[in-house]
Amino acid sequence: MRSVRIVFFGPPGTGKGTQAARLAESRRLVTLSSGDVLRREIREGSEVGEQAAQFVRSGQLVPDDVITRVMLAAIDKLGDHRGFILDGFPRTEQQADALANGLTERGITLDAVIDLIVPTDVIVRRLAGRRVCKKCGATYNVEFLPPQKAGVCDRCGSEIVQRDDDREDVIATRLDTYRAQTEPLVAYYRERGLLHEIQADADAEIVQDRIEEVIGALA
Ligand code: AMP
Repeated sequence: MRSVRIVFFGPPGTGKGTQAARLAESRRLVTLSSGDVLRREIREGSEVGEQAAQFVRSGQLVPDDVITRVMLAAIDKLGDHRGFILDGFPRTEQQADALANGLTERGITLDAVIDLIVPTDVIVRRLAGRRVCKKCGATYNVEFLPPQKAGVCDRCGSEIVQRDDDREDVIATRLDTYRAQTEPLVAYYRERGLLHEIQADADAEIVQDRIEEVIGALA
């Protein structure tokens, strides 16, 4: 199976993380989630973490040069032939240009951009109900996908919490930021022939089948 390089795209709460994890498993790809990378840097108190913290907490975008540097460094850590999924990056046209240049310099091409489409009211319900495991990062939803025991991770038994930026006031900012700064990338990638739009307001298995169909046709 050929290694593929894919971007997962779409507003927060469309299931990018869930679908990226499923595809990574079925295709042996590495997922590089910009949000996870930043949250780790913040937890570790690194220089990047300090620069990013206030933006992440308020639901605003971290400066382009900071996130681009971090994500290209993460790509460099992968072996040369490793396929990957970028989840949450790029989010602005400047980031998309910097990614394209960075990949060209490394002799890598992007194969596809998967745009997950979900109605806004469903996104808000998904984000407000989202809970994550503090230790292993497994994702739950109080409404759609509750853990077997309330507040406890099925996978590792640790505590399940709400992300600071999944509070309703911050959700509104994150969605506004997406519409203003990230949505223009739909046209950007469509013009470059890379965009694949997937209706994602359905069960995770069904959405995964739709994505697998697109990826299968790339080879
Ligand atoms: P996420 O987990 O993808 O929703 O990201 C959480 C937060 O991390 C966002 O609200 C931003 O503050 C920051 N972030 C993640 N990815 C990017 C990016 N590509 N550009 C700028 N900020 C980002």
